[in-house]
Amino acid sequence: EHEIVRVQLSERSYDIAIGAGIIDTAPPFFSARAKISHAVLVTDDQVRPLYADRIAAACAASGMRTTLLSVPAGETSKSIAMADQLWNQCLAEGADRKTVVIAVGGGVIGDLAGFIAATFARGLSFFQVPTTLLAQVDSSVGGKVGVNLPTAKNMVGAFWQPQGVLIDVDVLATLPEREYRAGMAEVVKYGVILDPDFFAYLEANVASIQLRDRKVLTQVIARCCQLKADVVQADERETTGLRAVLNYGHTFCHAFEATCGYGQLLHGEAVSIGMLCASRLAESLGRISPDVTQRQRKLLSALGLPTVPPQVDIDLVMTAMQRDKKVEHGKLQFVLPTKLGMVELVGDVPVKLAKQAINDG
Ligand code: NAD
Ligand code: ZN
Repeated sequence: EHEIVRVQLSERSYDIAIGAGIIDTAPPFFSARAKISHAVLVTDDQVRPLYADRIAAACAASGMRTTLLSVPAGETSKSIAMADQLWNQCLAEGADRKTVVIAVGGGVIGDLAGFIAATFARGLSFFQVPTTLLAQVDSSVGGKVGVNLPTAKNMVGAFWQPQGVLIDVDVLATLPEREYRAGMAEVVKYGVILDPDFFAYLEANVASIQLRDRKVLTQVIARCCQLKADVVQADERETTGLRAVLNYGHTFCHAFEATCGYGQLLHGEAVSIGMLCASRLAESLGRISPDVTQRQRKLLSALGLPTVPPQVDIDLVMTAMQRDKKVEHGKLQFVLPTKLGMVELVGDVPVKLAKQAINDG
């Protein structure tokens, strides 16, 4: 019992398969979509013993020449230094233009392995097996791959679409509770920006979500992938501005992330707080009624997510926000709800109101 989301791009289309226990079908899933003489699996040290070893063994058993490359877990591996190491390991393993790269891990591994695929020998075919909730509903869809520079996240990269994405909801069983909850913030985001019925479905299924029910997770993740695929299809390379809706809550989020000490706040936690700030801002601009914010707060808090801004110097937060790339000519720009399931890009927002939206939290 699994779901398929088809991502239809101008050049070609590919499938995202979502189901429980679906990684057991990894080798046929790959070979149905690419001719694989040599598979290079890229993973991290935490995911390798849990899942990547098993997938590598299954690939080898199905007759593929298989190489498994592992990097230390964590954001610091998303670097040019690590890409350099992987390029050289690929070369040493005899990788050539027919080698296929398979990312097995969270968003860090998807972005890094995808970057290797986009660049080695001018581009290799690529698959994703995302293993965190965030990677399953967000980073594995959309084709953005890349690495960080020391002072600029995601600064070097490419658009590089996979041949296929394989999402096994059962791997979420080993995800730490806090990572799991944080991923749910992005799930809630899709409901707020695009789909009021999905938002209501989440409200009605909080208990099953907390229990990591595999049937509910399959539905939830498939819906998120479909919603993100719809946005990506309409704006493949982030040129029309349509992809901006995905940034709901993220201007506040990035400012909190920049001012809180590293590791204090997970990305999804900052998204949760950021969405509520954006929603209060929309209220103060007279764009929505308070109950839209209220429903988000209730759902996010039921899912165990933080709803109150962190105790940091508000002026530092505002400075960070004005430095953010989404701020143009000193005016603040936000993605704000107009009702549940719909957002709009709003420019010329007074700094004072943005600050108030944080202080009121
Ligand atoms: P991550 O890849 O670092 O994974 C988080 C931790 O969970 C790691 O320690 C990992 O080893 C561990 N882990 C992964 N799967 C596990 C499992 N099933 N069981 C137990 N542990 C597991 O972080 P992430 O949150 O998945 O991704 C964050 C990255 O994604 C950031 O670098 C961000 O920039 C990127 N991102 C990219 C896009 C995009 O469009 N390309 C979108 C959003 C985020
Ligand atoms: Zn995000």
